[in-house]
Amino acid sequence: MKSLWSDKTAKGLSGLDLVVYTSRIIGANTNLVLWGGGNSSIKTVGKDHTGKKTSILWIKGSGSDMRTIAPKNFTPLRLDELLPLKKRKEMSDDAMVDYQMKSVLNPKAPKPSIETLLHAFLPAKHIYHTHADAICTLTDTKNSRKLIKEIFGESVAVVDYIRPGFTLSKWVSEIYEKHPNLRAIILDKHGLITWGDTAKEAYQMTIKLVSEAERFTAKKLKGKQALGPVQIKGLPQKKRRAVAAAIAPILRGEVSQNKLMVLQYEDGPDLLKFLGSKKAQQVSQVGPFTPDHLMHTRPWPLFVETKNPGDPQKLADDLRKSLAAYRKRGLDYFNRYKEDGVTMLDPNPRVILIPGLGMFTTGKDPRAATIAHDLYMHTFPVIEAATAIDAYKTIPMQEICNFEYWPMENFKLSLLPPEKAFSRKVVLITGAAGAIGAGIAESFVKAGASVILTDVMLEKTEVLADRLNQEAGGIQAVAIEMDVTDEKEVQRGFEDAVLAFGGLDIFVSNAGIARTASVDNLSLKDWEASLSVNATGHLLTSQAALKVMKAQKLGGSIVVVTTKNVLAPGKDFGAYSASKAAQTQLARIMAIENAPEGIRVNMVTPDGIFEGSGLWSKEIREERAKAHKISVKDVEAFYAKRNLMQRPIYASDVAEGVLFLASESAAKTTGAILPIDGGLREAFPR
Ligand code: ZN
Repeated sequence: MKSLWSDKTAKGLSGLDLVVYTSRIIGANTNLVLWGGGNSSIKTVGKDHTGKKTSILWIKGSGSDMRTIAPKNFTPLRLDELLPLKKRKEMSDDAMVDYQMKSVLNPKAPKPSIETLLHAFLPAKHIYHTHADAICTLTDTKNSRKLIKEIFGESVAVVDYIRPGFTLSKWVSEIYEKHPNLRAIILDKHGLITWGDTAKEAYQMTIKLVSEAERFTAKKLKGKQALGPVQIKGLPQKKRRAVAAAIAPILRGEVSQNKLMVLQYEDGPDLLKFLGSKKAQQVSQVGPFTPDHLMHTRPWPLFVETKNPGDPQKLADDLRKSLAAYRKRGLDYFNRYKEDGVTMLDPNPRVILIPGLGMFTTGKDPRAATIAHDLYMHTFPVIEAATAIDAYKTIPMQEICNFEYWPMENFKLSLLPPEKAFSRKVVLITGAAGAIGAGIAESFVKAGASVILTDVMLEKTEVLADRLNQEAGGIQAVAIEMDVTDEKEVQRGFEDAVLAFGGLDIFVSNAGIARTASVDNLSLKDWEASLSVNATGHLLTSQAALKVMKAQKLGGSIVVVTTKNVLAPGKDFGAYSASKAAQTQLARIMAIENAPEGIRVNMVTPDGIFEGSGLWSKEIREERAKAHKISVKDVEAFYAKRNLMQRPIYASDVAEGVLFLASESAAKTTGAILPIDGGLREAFPR
């Protein structure tokens, strides 16, 4: 493992800033910690609010991530108040947390870590705690103590597994006091603790020990098929993606029975090799390599037992069978190991392994699915390496259950912000790069949805996706190139779309073109192009969307962006109005046909949108000015004036209507038309 330490960067830093720097370079290495795992601390002398000189322990607070940690994420505690606790025999979690809270110097600081006392009781100035893959490869074996002694000799001590808290802190401190020459302490089935007088010393010790462990493991792995021969090979890429896209909505429907989930798909070559190995099924069911992962991955993944990963039909049957067995095992585990008074968590898996195909992870949003993904991408190599060395062994089931249902761990969930109106929902918008499409996309992303943006203009769509993701502070939008008029393109586009978030809940059929000419002057080319995008394109994409929604069996909502021209046509808009009328009529038929499946189909009929709209090109403005006998610069004002409210219509107005129709507020509405035109008497739906 490479050290990321830079004397040049560290030179100007001291105190907490130095710990922030070191924590970040630890967090930057995913083989050391992942997603909120691990912690760090420094002991300093400062002043409290009265100006009194005080020994302070600064420790990473709950809910922060080493990779992005900042000084405000550290909690300062009065060290002099924590140290006397060492003399106590025992202390409950509640009493310890309560005591710690009273010793916090800054009431605005985050809640101190459950491992605060562990850091307090060790005398070193700088302490780092990680869940390094290479260390956990050693701890998660049958003979971990023997192995660790063999590699590190007497300079590293091992502490038996116990859930973090007072007792673990006391054990660590006792072992340290007995052996003051220790270089580090390893927590069995959990992780590593290193320390030093300086941040550099403590950090370099982590790197050194991890590197030694890596070298040892690499030797053991060399030329070995630890998990036996590969029995099911990964399907060829094209086929693999097609099957994954066919199975994803079925899987999403199954795992969303309690709460809607977003999925992430992964099919890297090492993972496929692991999944196809003879012993993969058996070793994958043992447990997580550090209990910290439990909240995100659950105790074990769903391993789909299948001999036919290439046949979506058979695979779907195998998936359902394996899932039923998974839920039964989960229920038995809960009934056997739970403490009184706890409620069972969602019985569905967060990690789904399918030999030949790859892995799906689930979560309430793309970020949560990514966390489960990242953790498992580090888990399977640890399992393989531990098996090569000895035999993969984690904490016992009773301890897994105790940790999984631990109030202290579940408290972390309560720190998360509340879910937004459309979080957990997946939306696909066609013609997303245009003004209305972009407006709708922006509103859905702000409302928490995961959004697939499709358009023929890929670059423009990617720019939009990047902007929306930046504003959202995470991946909530993906751009996919798709020509709605081409059946094969639509099929490929929806395949990519389904693999982005696992399925589809809301489809916004928005792609459209406007060609103007009086009927006697209308070229066949313009007529056919209008029908092709506005009518056929709508048909093809709706068919693809319905297929996904029906496979999920979770209902769905389709919102069609048509036009006020359908209700009140204007001259020279023959091709546009007729093709949009075909789209509208098709949408009504879809509403009738799909109501039994819980799929609603509604329409919005906006009047002209000017701001940034591709539909309102210079030519069209000129043409419309001529048609209404006004000057070009007055076109916008003319359109605003002609409605009852006398107000211009914006993309955000259309988005409001679309979100309403897609939402649960419109749960009893289907086949409806919602005008968004400021009120046009001739365009009142009837
Ligand atoms: Zn830990």
